Amino acid sequence: MTEANRHPIHIHDDACIGCVHCLTACPTKAIRIKNGKARIISELCIDCGECIRYCPHDAIDSLTTSFSDLNAFKYKVAIPATVLYGQFDNATLPNEILFALRRIGFDCVYELSTICELNNAAIAKYIDSHPKPRPLIASTCPVVARLIQHRFPSLCDLIVPIEPPREIAAKILRANLPRVLKIAPTDIGIIHIPPCPAKMVSINFPVSMEKSYLDGAISIRDIFNPIFQALRQSQEDTIMCHLFPETIFSGIGMGTALSGGETRGLKNHRTVAVSGVRDTIRVLDQVELGLLKDVDLLECTVCPDGCVGGPLAVENRFLAKSRILRLVNQMGERTVVDSSDMSMLYHKDFLSFSHPIKPVPDLPLDDDRGRAILKAKRRNKLVKQLPSKDCGACGAPDCRTLADDIVRDQAALPDCPFMKEEK
Ligand code: SF4
Ligand code: SF4
Repeated sequence: MTEANRHPIHIHDDACIGCVHCLTACPTKAIRIKNGKARIISELCIDCGECIRYCPHDAIDSLTTSFSDLNAFKYKVAIPATVLYGQFDNATLPNEILFALRRIGFDCVYELSTICELNNAAIAKYIDSHPKPRPLIASTCPVVARLIQHRFPSLCDLIVPIEPPREIAAKILRANLPRVLKIAPTDIGIIHIPPCPAKMVSINFPVSMEKSYLDGAISIRDIFNPIFQALRQSQEDTIMCHLFPETIFSGIGMGTALSGGETRGLKNHRTVAVSGVRDTIRVLDQVELGLLKDVDLLECTVCPDGCVGGPLAVENRFLAKSRILRLVNQMGERTVVDSSDMSMLYHKDFLSFSHPIKPVPDLPLDDDRGRAILKAKRRNKLVKQLPSKDCGACGAPDCRTLADDIVRDQAALPDCPFMKEEK
């Protein structure tokens, strides 16, 4: 996969009417409107999915692993994000959803809430053994890590270097399944079921490891209907799930589907949870200014209310949130992870990043330094000439970005309708 096609975000030209909603929503100014259609600048996109959320014409979606891709594997494992449990009505037990996943073709389903709790405990241990600097930043949301790399490079060292639950679960399975099943590791396909496109990119292009332990991701939006159908057909499973609720769930881990979930298990630490891309940027701006030093852990999720607000979830996030909270309350705050197991994995570096997250430099105005300085001067002059209306009518999100595009020869002054009029 090349840089140009690394992103799963896809624009359907036949549905796009060039209305600029996505242009103004994109937090990294990665969208332009060219010839009346939205275009994404690959190097700037962080796969946050804001454009999917804001497009009123359903012209943007995300490509994920297809069901036919699963046929490449003899043994298929699903690792659903805990937010999946909030997509069905209150009468549907989490166990029934796991059964339904098996009915639609997975040989094994790995329940993630326990690993989410383990991840919480490992973060707490990291905080305790690293008294400085502060605030540390949780890295489970892959968009936050990429936002920091691109827009807040000086904060990269604050990211807690503990792998997210989905990767820890897949690593455990990779270490054990080939031996237990006596099949080749390449015959085992481990698939995540997330509510956002960013997890797909974090699997294809991981930033904290050489290669992801996961083989792909099928979005909740794509898998919801097959699960729903399987749930309707399996009265027997429903009875079994009520009589023998055999899977152990963690109430602490279940909460990670919500903003504040990663800090839920950290009772003895000073924590702050922020959600939504704009509030996340606002708080990271403050951290860059040297504020929030009395906070141990800052948890940021770019989707509103956390993963329940993911652009590829199907249920209204308020309902999903209330269902997850109900499950958290039912399951309680009792820890189900053995702290000595967690310590052992922590000290063996089983849970840690293998590569540090590094800053990604800004796109230069020109590869040649001398020419880049001249272009910057021309850009500054252009900014003064432009009307400062930031209306998006030129196809760029604001006047300054249009000026950048002009000096890069990717746009022209008459693209601005006000300049055209003046001329
Ligand atoms: S929001 Fe963007 S992708 Fe959707 S129709 Fe408008 S310009 Fe096209
Ligand atoms: S996914 Fe996010 S960063 Fe990428 S184009 Fe859409 S809004 Fe912009």
